Amino acid sequence: MNKTITVIKGDGIGPEIVTEAMKVLDRIAEKYGHTFTYQEILAGGCAIDVYGKSLPEESLQKCLDCDSVLLGAVGGPKWDGVEKSIRPEAALLGIRSAMGLYANLRPARLFPQLADASPLKPEIVARGIDLMMVRELIGGAYFGEHKTVTENGELVAHDDMTYAEHEIRRIARTAFETARKRGSRVISVDKANVLDSSRLWRKVVHQVAEEYPDVTCTDMLVDNTAMQLVKNPAQFDVVVTENLFGDILSDEASMITGSIGMMASASLGEGTRGMYEPIHGSAPDIAGQNLANPIGTILSAAMMLRYSFDMIKEADAIEAAVNTVLDKGYRTGDIMSEGMTQVTCSQMGDLIAAEL
Ligand code: NAD
Repeated sequence: MNKTITVIKGDGIGPEIVTEAMKVLDRIAEKYGHTFTYQEILAGGCAIDVYGKSLPEESLQKCLDCDSVLLGAVGGPKWDGVEKSIRPEAALLGIRSAMGLYANLRPARLFPQLADASPLKPEIVARGIDLMMVRELIGGAYFGEHKTVTENGELVAHDDMTYAEHEIRRIARTAFETARKRGSRVISVDKANVLDSSRLWRKVVHQVAEEYPDVTCTDMLVDNTAMQLVKNPAQFDVVVTENLFGDILSDEASMITGSIGMMASASLGEGTRGMYEPIHGSAPDIAGQNLANPIGTILSAAMMLRYSFDMIKEADAIEAAVNTVLDKGYRTGDIMSEGMTQVTCSQMGDLIAAEL
């Protein structure tokens, strides 16, 4: 297969970690007979430096004109003072909205080799953590009307939390399709005992569930989900929820696995094209020192192969290579522990590519 990948290395550790992911993709291309053509663009702080804005039109156009986007991270203290509309993070919102990426998929998986890094009790961790958060990304309270008005002599703030049936239906389908590729269980999270938007959410999710008789569907209230994630995370396979609940729960789910440098994510819309990125930021404190953990970005590239290019055995191969390298005791500084061998960012990329 021939695929064109738009690459945004971004700021801070972005260039270091994306370079390692490209190294792994090149090895996959060589081994399985694919061609990956990269078009590198500037977005984020580095684009502000060159163009005076974080998302130049030609960069955005290349995101729309490719098979998928691979992103490192954007931002850093250098650009903290710039005006809100051109801030580095605005580039990501601009790309997500222009590409219509309404579904955010974040796997939260505990690597048994790194079990000590989890803040949960060993007996809970021993049951395993391997779940997929499917978060609605462009609706709900973050995209409703926001206003602060004076009522009866005091300020009153309003944030509208709105969902239309079609917005719920499409993210529910993403969740059920994802579950079919995993453990065939969906837990739909809402606050249907209080919120109208949640009652509609539940109704539409149940309608979609009827199209997927092979996948089980259970409702769970968001407050209970927050508790269950730390009490018994092994019960979850696919969790689907709206934007605000998903923002909070996906961070909680990542945290219980212990290492931010290991976590991948995908943002998807209609069709197969998506944007793939690690969940962490640009880590300015370690940038330029070859210390970063590239595994979150490498696993994001594996998600790109699985979800956008339907290259299942290639994605499996990358995940297996990561596991083998961890089994052999190689660790970057953030996941280092006694008795293991510490390696740099580029050495970690070399080791994973070599396992392939
Ligand atoms: P961060 O995720 O960049 O860093 C938090 C801590 O985790 C730091 O100590 C960092 O060194 C460490 N860390 C993160 N990724 C690592 C990796 N791959 N390997 C080893 N250690 C790693 O969060 P922050 O410090 O709050 O944010 C830094 C900048 O990144 C800010 O400008 C923020 O706005 C931006 N940011 C960007 C994105 C994105 O591009 N999607 C996401 C979050 C934050």
